[in-house]
Amino acid sequence: MKFADEFRDADLARALGARIAAEAGDKHWKIMEVCGGHTHTIFKYGIEDLLPSNVELVHGPGCPVCVIPMGRLDDGIAVAHEPGVIFTCFGDLMRVPGSDGSLLDAKAAGADVRMVYSPLDALKIAQQNPDRKVVFYAIGFETTAPSTALTLMRAKAEGIRNLFVFCNHVTIIPPMKAILDSPDLQLDGFLGPGHVSTVVGIRPFEFVTNTYHKPVVVVGFEPLDILQGVHMIIQQIHEGRCEVENQYKRVVHDDGNPKALEVLARVFKLRSHFEWRGLGFISQSALELQDEFADYDAEKVFSVPGVRVADPKACQCGEVLKGVLKPWECKVFGTACTPETPIGTCMVSSEGACAAYYNFGRYSRARERERVLASGDRPDANGNGNGHANGAVAEHELRAIPVQAR
Ligand code: SF4
Repeated sequence: MKFADEFRDADLARALGARIAAEAGDKHWKIMEVCGGHTHTIFKYGIEDLLPSNVELVHGPGCPVCVIPMGRLDDGIAVAHEPGVIFTCFGDLMRVPGSDGSLLDAKAAGADVRMVYSPLDALKIAQQNPDRKVVFYAIGFETTAPSTALTLMRAKAEGIRNLFVFCNHVTIIPPMKAILDSPDLQLDGFLGPGHVSTVVGIRPFEFVTNTYHKPVVVVGFEPLDILQGVHMIIQQIHEGRCEVENQYKRVVHDDGNPKALEVLARVFKLRSHFEWRGLGFISQSALELQDEFADYDAEKVFSVPGVRVADPKACQCGEVLKGVLKPWECKVFGTACTPETPIGTCMVSSEGACAAYYNFGRYSRARERERVLASGDRPDANGNGNGHANGAVAEHELRAIPVQAR
């Protein structure tokens, strides 16, 4: 398949891994892949096994389902239970646990909850059910927001008045800034989000190079894309450069997609603030509908509780989303929390880091031992983190890792 097979060449991948190992030297590198799609590729293809143990990939906050806080899910479930509502959402969202069950549980309890593949499906349901109120739970970054915007524009143009959007679209730049401002994590560079960049281009990431002096390479989603991106970051640092580079030129234009940006500006505006799972409230980090589309805004038409709900005590999704913990370091990973019985969001979506670790079983005990020794990670005040003072590996902790995760 053009643009896929040539980016999955195993010999080239091994050669690139060897070159990265040669150029990485003794330094411990921490490179964050921002996008959940990259996390998925990394584990599906075993990219970490091709990298030396001192090149660590840190998983970022770019999985749209993972970052939705429990309170926003509870809000959606409350709307789904309103009389006469047909509640539509993407399939993975249906399994995310709220404080009193998931949307699937709500469906089992009698709410009319339907899975859709696109907001246009919700529009069709609205056309077919003119006497019902059809709500679409919109999630995603700048990648998916244009499809919601175009659907609303079509609904307005066709005079359809029974479609409502519960808008949870978020933007990628503010959480990156929050991570860069956090003292928890010292990164060497970023693999920039390929999907989001198809819409916004590469220029919005220049604040990372200009203000924080970290290189960014926007990369694609095949194994060689990821490896080449890692190599480009190491090269930049060796050459004393700090730039936003575009490895994914076959898809991403430096200036993005002007048409998509135009429809985003027409339909959405920035919210003053929005709560992110694990990251708390971040100002201007999410979208809401412009006043012109207020009649389609589920938050204005329905009574949404808007209650803030704390994550379950056992859940460490926040630390995983910030890249502070590896999924297997969460106390319930692979035991109480699995894709069949998720406790947190990161175990639900295929782009979630915990689901990627669990489903592809790429966890390597030997590799993790090397990584811990190389980084000298120490426990935090709560005993979280690796728990390896002075870089020593606690053997009992390694033994405690569930078999499925290895
Ligand atoms: S294992 Fe489950 S609870 Fe723990 S961080 Fe992952 S998704 Fe969250």
